[in-house]
Amino acid sequence: MYIVMFGPPGCGKGTQAEILHVKYNIPAISTGDLFRWHIKNQTELGKAVKCYLDKGELVPDEVTLNIVDERISREDCLENGGLFDGIPRTVYQASRLDELLGKRDLKISSCLNICVPDESIVTRLADRVIGSDGKTYNLVTNPPPGGMSFSRRSDDEPETVRNRLRLYHEMTHPLVEYYARKGIMHTVDGDRPIEIVSVELMGLIDLLAN
Ligand code: AMP
Repeated sequence: MYIVMFGPPGCGKGTQAEILHVKYNIPAISTGDLFRWHIKNQTELGKAVKCYLDKGELVPDEVTLNIVDERISREDCLENGGLFDGIPRTVYQASRLDELLGKRDLKISSCLNICVPDESIVTRLADRVIGSDGKTYNLVTNPPPGGMSFSRRSDDEPETVRNRLRLYHEMTHPLVEYYARKGIMHTVDGDRPIEIVSVELMGLIDLLAN
């Protein structure tokens, strides 16, 4: 099953994708994580995309689509599907993602839209930290285990967050219409505790699987 995890930055797409990955063994494919891996490992691609991530701007489409094409060609995705987190971000990317899957006779089964109002996003991202175990925590609602060191994402600075939210509303939110037209859009209220949102998402996936 290929599922788009959808919603504004900080809505919990990545956290929920990891939970769903553990439950259903569907690989989570986060374009942001793929880019951050390249930046950390100082690859050529990492050097080329760093400036976009630092400013909260979109990486050029061809770079993004190539990295996704390569990821979905790996065995785990071909066998078990994919939970797309961070892609597509524009209607153009959505149609190209459909093509990338289509050439392998695959398609998106569902878009799970995790709705969270902007005010909550700004607070959440101000409190978001990455633990030394690589997992995402929130200093208020889901703090890292005692003693664990943590850092912040450079693009979680308030000004960059405002830029990312503006981009989301302008470029990404129109995708709600794109998937609604296909009849595969499902919306959940993401402004609730992680476990409650997970249960609702699992209910939707179980319905899709049957
Ligand atoms: P995320 O972890 O999804 O918040 O993504 C972090 C950053 O990676 C974004 O602000 C963009 O700079 C870049 N990025 C991630 N996914 C995409 C995408 N589908 N298209 C363009 N840029 C992306």
